[in-house]
Amino acid sequence: MKVKIDYIIVGQGIAGTVLAHTLIKADCSILIIDNPLLSQASRVAAGLYNPVVFKRLVKSWMADELIPYLDRFYLGSEKLLNTKFYHKKKIVKLFAEDNEKEFWLKKANEEVGKYLSKDIGDDFLSEILINPMGSSEVLEAGNLDTRLFLNSSHDYFISKELLLEEEFDHDKVQIPEDHVEYKGYQAKKIIFCEGFRSTINPWFNWLPFKLTKGEIITIKLKEPDLIPDEMVINKGVFILPLGEGVYKVGSTYEWNELNEEITEKGKSELISKLKKILKVDFEVINHEAGIRPTVNDRRPILGLHPAHPQLAVFNGLGTKGVMLAPYFADQLVKFLENGDALNNEVSITRFQ
Ligand SMILES: Cc1cc2nc3c(=O)[nH]c(=O)nc-3n(C[C@H](O)[C@H](O)[C@H](O)COP(=O)(O)OP(=O)(O)OC[C@H]3O[C@@H](n4cnc5c(N)ncnc54)[C@H](O)[C@@H]3O)c2cc1C
Repeated sequence: MKVKIDYIIVGQGIAGTVLAHTLIKADCSILIIDNPLLSQASRVAAGLYNPVVFKRLVKSWMADELIPYLDRFYLGSEKLLNTKFYHKKKIVKLFAEDNEKEFWLKKANEEVGKYLSKDIGDDFLSEILINPMGSSEVLEAGNLDTRLFLNSSHDYFISKELLLEEEFDHDKVQIPEDHVEYKGYQAKKIIFCEGFRSTINPWFNWLPFKLTKGEIITIKLKEPDLIPDEMVINKGVFILPLGEGVYKVGSTYEWNELNEEITEKGKSELISKLKKILKVDFEVINHEAGIRPTVNDRRPILGLHPAHPQLAVFNGLGTKGVMLAPYFADQLVKFLENGDALNNEVSITRFQ
């Protein structure tokens, strides 16, 4: 006799974790299968969310819809897991050129303006930052301590006997008419949340990923608390305060050498950009790398396999897993459970 459940989720990165909590809330029975060593992206991520695209100073895709979901989902998860991992912060944008100031003020009066401060600072933290062109702030931004969110979710899933810590073996899947079987389990569907490893999934390896490796360093300043905890600094790289003089600095973008190895090249690039902002000495205390599941058209991928509707996918969160996951996990659950239509821009059907 097989154990009957509604859904098997493969992967407990940001996608699988947010989806698992969303399915549990919808009263579905689940089993998660994850070997955390197979992909580092969700664990090394800085977890920043930002409603503004700095390059053109426009709203990030669907920012108005996604931002309200963040509070709802992550604050709810903090309560459930009794852990603080969701932090609201202002992103301080240091201007690189003089005309950026005028452009910012012009944009602050347009639609994106609700996320932009109208105040321009001339000497923000000038004792420690190289900041001759002034700065302003993005409002309604912040970060998720992804490692803490995943670890506390992991402990919760283990305590409820919902998580198997092992590699999923695709060869062991059986697909009869109307359900799916895997080892001792029978489920309505398997939902693959494998991040970049979707590229070696036998059913979903045709999806048009354009993977991006990223490296990130952690630094320590000699004097703690130089940058207030409620801020993130951005100019070429971001500086995210973690407390007690420790900061994450990232990230690099690499499209060719797709592995999770840290490199001297990545580290030097980050250090050199950091030295253009920071006046004070720092020491690098950690260095990590991961592969972002980025897609050609930069949209998430949700939905069912075209030939085997018992197999589903939740992936393509790219550079924005923290901001995209809560809204789109909700969409996917409503699609699976109530038959609600998926938005054409994210449905897997856009590739068929
Ligand atoms: C350096 C860096 C910085 C980043 N910064 C940010 C940021 O500031 N903000 C932001 O929103 N995003 C950021 N990202 C992007 C973010 O990491 C991704 O959007 C997100 O992690 C994608 O999550 P995922 O769950 O889809 O994939 P993954 O994180 O890859 O998770 C997949 C999980 O599935 C497991 N798995 C895969 N295959 C199997 C199998 N066969 N059996 C068992 N387990 C399996 C993996 O081990 C892993 O646990 C960053 C990424 C990098 C690399």
